[in-house]
Amino acid sequence: MTVYGTRPEAIKVAPVIKALEESDSLDSVTVVTGQHREMLDQVNELFGIEPDHDLDIFQHGASLSTIVARVLERLDPVLESEKPAAVVVQGDTSTSTAAALAAFHRGIPVVHVEAGLRSGNINSPFPEEANRKITSQIAALHLAPTSTSKENLVREGVAADDIVVTGNTVIDALLMTVEKKAPFTDTNLEDLADSGCRILLVTTHRRENWGGAMEGVGRALARLARTFPDVEIVLPAHRNPVVRRAVLPHLDGLSNVTVTEPLAYGEFTRMLSLATVVLTDSGGVQEEAPSLGKPVLVMRENTERPEAVDAGTVKLIGTDEERIVDEVTTLLSDAAAYEAMAQAVNPYGDGRSAARSETSIGHLLGSGERAEDWEMEFAR
Ligand code: UDP
Repeated sequence: MTVYGTRPEAIKVAPVIKALEESDSLDSVTVVTGQHREMLDQVNELFGIEPDHDLDIFQHGASLSTIVARVLERLDPVLESEKPAAVVVQGDTSTSTAAALAAFHRGIPVVHVEAGLRSGNINSPFPEEANRKITSQIAALHLAPTSTSKENLVREGVAADDIVVTGNTVIDALLMTVEKKAPFTDTNLEDLADSGCRILLVTTHRRENWGGAMEGVGRALARLARTFPDVEIVLPAHRNPVVRRAVLPHLDGLSNVTVTEPLAYGEFTRMLSLATVVLTDSGGVQEEAPSLGKPVLVMRENTERPEAVDAGTVKLIGTDEERIVDEVTTLLSDAAAYEAMAQAVNPYGDGRSAARSETSIGHLLGSGERAEDWEMEFAR
């Protein structure tokens, strides 16, 4: 049984669900919690996944505790009726940790996809760093995306035998999607794609950036739009009203800023492939953009994804307004600095992570061999 509730989880478990559906030895049941609503449904549609159960927990402005409580309460009867042999959760959302706990309470083994990411700071990202650590304490099988994440788990006392390095399933999802070159539903974006102009693609939503930091992001974008009238800034705005209230007022009346609704995943991957520079505080975008050779500036103080920083395509720049303006300006005006970062690397996977996950889950449940650990190669 795979349980998930937000857009990033849906993207990253979709290839695993597809592999489970095709498995000879396993049956697949899917449960969505609905922690996100439209953004989640969009991804399920794209991958052709029809959830078997929908816990429908979404509530505007729900606190983290309310989300966790609702998942625990509503998942338990589903676990009772379906009696899954294992429960698969992904990543570090409140949905994933609450679902893991609900399974653990019933003695059902938990499989953790994307296990072992650590920023080293329990408050950043918040609440994700705590969520992922809690899930690691109760998981039976840890599917680590990279050898670095495996080392993090071993350091915390997880038995190496319970860890498989699979690569990150986000690369499977990206490769399944990006080549299809999804048409944009917003005709402005289609015109933009035709124009061939340089694009600064921006996403922001991190809880620890809410408030002052996000206001600064809005001001920085407005300054960049005025300095580079030939560059188009594209901002698919996260649905959370807290994010919109902080950023969007600064962008009013700027003709080279396009604010859109969240893009469907196919459209977003196409926009990523068209972008010149990516400015983001997202986890998943940090993993996808390097595969497409796009420089990524990350508006966070730390990252649990050091591999692409080491490879040189991702740079941590924090959320200071001046720094954002300076770093983007350098990439847009210094060709050598740009080329140094714009190298396609694949530190996060080879597109076969879901197959390794399915094999390893089968092994956990008594059939076949475990997958071999994936070893990263830099494909420059
Ligand atoms: N994404 C999307 N549409 C958008 C913005 C992002 O489909 O308008 C995808 C993106 O490709 C990535 C995922 O959403 O796979 C990242 O989600 P988010 O930034 O919300 O969460 P995080 O990865 O930080 O947990």
